[in-house]
Order: sequence, then C-alpha cells, then structure tokens
Amino acid sequence: MTAADRRAMTRALELASEAAMASEIPVGAVVLDPEGRIIAEGRNTREETHDPTGHAEVEALRRAAAAVGSWNLEQHTLVVTLEPCIMCAGAVLQARISRVVFGAWDDKAGAAGSMYDVLRDRRLPYRAEVVGGVEAEAATALLRSFFEQRR
Ligand SMILES: [Zn+2]
Repeated sequence: MTAADRRAMTRALELASEAAMASEIPVGAVVLDPEGRIIAEGRNTREETHDPTGHAEVEALRRAAAAVGSWNLEQHTLVVTLEPCIMCAGAVLQARISRVVFGAWDDKAGAAGSMYDVLRDRRLPYRAEVVGGVEAEAATALLRSFFEQRR
C-alpha cells in the first residue's frame, strides 16, 4: 500500500458517494498509471444506463484504456471501494492490470479472494497482485447506509 493507493482510495470513495446520490449502489473505482497518477475514474451506472456491465471497475477500465490509447494496461493499478465481482475480475485480467487495491470484502460475490480468487488463479494465463481491505470500514459504511435507506 502506497501513498498513491491511499489518495486513490479517497477519490474512489468520493465516486462511490456520488453513485449513491444518483441512486446507484455506491461503488467507485480509479485507475492509476505506473507513476501512481489517476488517469481514469468510474462509478456504478447500471440504473442510469440500463447496462448490466455498468460496474465502477468496467467504467474506469474503459476510460483508462481510452486515455492510454490501448486496451493493455500492464503496470497500471485499479483501486476500487468493493472487492471486484467475477465480471470485473475478468475485465481486470483482460486489461492486463498488474495490481488491484480494494476496500470492502464482498463475501456474497467477491472474486478477489473471498468467494473466488479469479485474479490469482494459477490456471489462468494472467494474474494480478491483490491488496484487499483498504479503508474497508468507509466503503462498508457507504454500502450499509445505502441499503438501509432503500428498505
Ligand atoms: Zn463488477
């Protein structure tokens, strides 16, 4: 965990809050270039766009690839407030992202160590380094208050 990771998580948490204000599940993500600079951001947009793939990670990866001008994001880091799902972990590997830093663990759908460990599965040709549980309390608090308000 670096200072850049921490700054990125702070920004990802802001994006998660923005998602909640737009009635989206509060998850935010950013992509860092090899120097630790934020080059792309994303948050959940599924309700607004009616896009089942509109997860924060996919949004951030699309924008990062556009910014870099390549689908290949080797040496880049994805920072996201919630443990990626299977789809997003797949997208991370497709983008060749080298590191994933995430906040809250998702024991119902997480694919970065809790339910599945897609990012470090030795049967796959590509893997990513994983740092989980960064500012997990803040990410969990956002999710909890979102779902409490909806009840
Ligand atoms: Zn996802």
